[in-house]
Amino acid sequence: RNVIRLHQVNKSYLMADEMFYALRNIDLCIAENDYVAIIGPSGSGKSTLMNVLGCLDTPTSGQYQLGEHDVATLNETELAELRNEAVGFIFQSFNLLPRATVLANVMQPLVYRLMPNKTRQAMALEALQRVGLADKTGHLPNQLSGGQRQRVAIARALVTRPRILLGDEPTGNLDSKTTKDIMALFDQLHQEGHTIILVTHEQDIAEHCQRVIRLVDGQVAEDIRNNQGAQLH
Ligand code: ADP
Ligand code: ADP
Repeated sequence: RNVIRLHQVNKSYLMADEMFYALRNIDLCIAENDYVAIIGPSGSGKSTLMNVLGCLDTPTSGQYQLGEHDVATLNETELAELRNEAVGFIFQSFNLLPRATVLANVMQPLVYRLMPNKTRQAMALEALQRVGLADKTGHLPNQLSGGQRQRVAIARALVTRPRILLGDEPTGNLDSKTTKDIMALFDQLHQEGHTIILVTHEQDIAEHCQRVIRLVDGQVAEDIRNNQGAQLH
């Protein structure tokens, strides 16, 4: 079952009187529980694709179906709701609020939800338990290591219980040991049924995923399945 379907998706910008295509005629389906790496040279459209998939940005033309929703038909409010419910984002630089505690950072995506604050806290604590950081709720981000900060960001992505996790170079700021730990966490989340899509520059990580999509000049140049994701070394 496909959770993501892109049909003839373009994303263009007007630059010096000319149309520049960051994404060009993308046809792509991603199945539920797929584990995908997006690779390609700098400027090939990887971040643009992730932003479209995560509804942070909308295509200039073409269709994007996310679950049951035809994204082009949604207004800003509906799009924000879908983004909040359907996907969790993880960034290279963690993007935590520096003055907020770990618990407050993880509760952040729930602020617009109509629920008692106690429920938000309980959901954030549960998400922190899943990433092994339930003992750090009162810490500030700068009291944690890089790997711990990324776990907090993963807990923040999980707190709304999305089915899809999108990581834009999630291990790009981490050393190789910490990268392995974070990938083990993604493996666990994949086994629990999440659909995982990661942008990476690292060959090891791409080979570890079950499917590798290579972008070149805004187009899908290659789409390969590795049924056995390779071990990280
Ligand atoms: P990647 O993530 O693969 O490095 P990006 O998706 O960030 O590539 O960018 C793809 C291309 O689109 C780049 O050439 C970039 O300069 C261009 N681009 C991205 N966002 C914008 C924008 N808001 N306005 C104009 N050009 C953009
Ligand atoms: P990472 O490897 O996660 O990118 P660092 O290179 O900063 O983070 O730290 C390497 C190791 O040192 C971490 O795995 C962690 O165990 C420890 N460490 C780093 N910063 C701190 C800190 N502020 N408090 C406690 N331990 C830390």
